[in-house]
Amino acid sequence: MSDRDPSSEPLDEFALIASVKRRVQPAPGVLLGIGDDAAVLAPSEHPQIVACDALVEGVHFKRSWISPEALGRRIVTANVSDFAAMGATPRWALLSFTVPSSTDTAWCYAAHEGVIGGLEEVGAALVGGDTTSTGGPVTLSLTLGGDALWEPLRRSGGQIGDQIWVTGTLGDSALGLRMLKEGGGTSPEQAFVIARHISPEARLDWGLWLGSEGVGRSAADVSDGFLQDLGHIALASGCAAEVQLEDIPLSDAYRALHEGSSAPNLHDLALTGGEDFELVFTAAPDANLPARRGAIPVTRVGRLVSGESGAIRVLNADGSERRVLQAGWRHFRSKVAEDV
Ligand code: ADP
Ligand code: MG
Repeated sequence: MSDRDPSSEPLDEFALIASVKRRVQPAPGVLLGIGDDAAVLAPSEHPQIVACDALVEGVHFKRSWISPEALGRRIVTANVSDFAAMGATPRWALLSFTVPSSTDTAWCYAAHEGVIGGLEEVGAALVGGDTTSTGGPVTLSLTLGGDALWEPLRRSGGQIGDQIWVTGTLGDSALGLRMLKEGGGTSPEQAFVIARHISPEARLDWGLWLGSEGVGRSAADVSDGFLQDLGHIALASGCAAEVQLEDIPLSDAYRALHEGSSAPNLHDLALTGGEDFELVFTAAPDANLPARRGAIPVTRVGRLVSGESGAIRVLNADGSERRVLQAGWRHFRSKVAEDV
């Protein structure tokens, strides 16, 4: 935003809102955007999809790790990833922006720029929000709305015999977070996994394809950890799942960094680490999937089987079962991010 305030002055929320209002492009379906007491949207002929996600300083990020633009984009990605998992099309968003009153003004403008830019990339517009000060951590909360142009992909749509697929590669984000906690890193492999943590991409293109083609029977995004998110699908679908450990897709950077580390099991972070924002989905055994869409491959990793609802068996190459201790991220149980 070109009319940014000098960063030394305290944030003027009305100047910020006026600047954001000027920056946001008019969008189809938005009859009244930022500036009144509420936004007015045109009715849609499609079912409406709504999702909400928050990023809390100290829980999800440290301000020293991530630029304000990247933070703004990341809150968009978290929401768009949920839309991808539903096969839904983003249209509009509301931002709740909560910062300590001492927060640098330029930082606040840049965070909004990240949100607006991230939304523009998926064809959505910021239609309003709320700006408040706090004695606590920086908190960005985004509500994203849009259309279900076809039947939404539900977690509950899986059937016994479905094959389980995953987009992209798993574990890079968790490994990137580990690198950041250890003080960062400058090798190309370290830079790659750190970028996967700081600037993840949602797999909207895959989600829309799975929904529009009717290929996806069930889907979830990998935000809390692959096994946990697959477990949600299996539980909602009333069946169990089998995963072939050797088939879990790993990036070259992930493999290289593991080789140079003392971590015992190659696949642990890929199975349980959060915030990959890949999609895990199921499709009929005879479904015809392209190997990739754009640069993003898809890999078959297992199948839904009969058994205890939500149970997941991870199988080694020789067919023996692999014990996995921690399933993934849980806000009110895990200590994973205590020292973030
Ligand atoms: P109120 O006092 O009624 O809550 P505000 O002054 O908070 O009104 O908001 C005025 C307008 O600015 C509204 O359209 C609101 O949606 C919008 N708005 C407030 N904060 C933000 C923000 N951080 N980003 C985008 N729009 C915002
Ligand atoms: Mg308000």
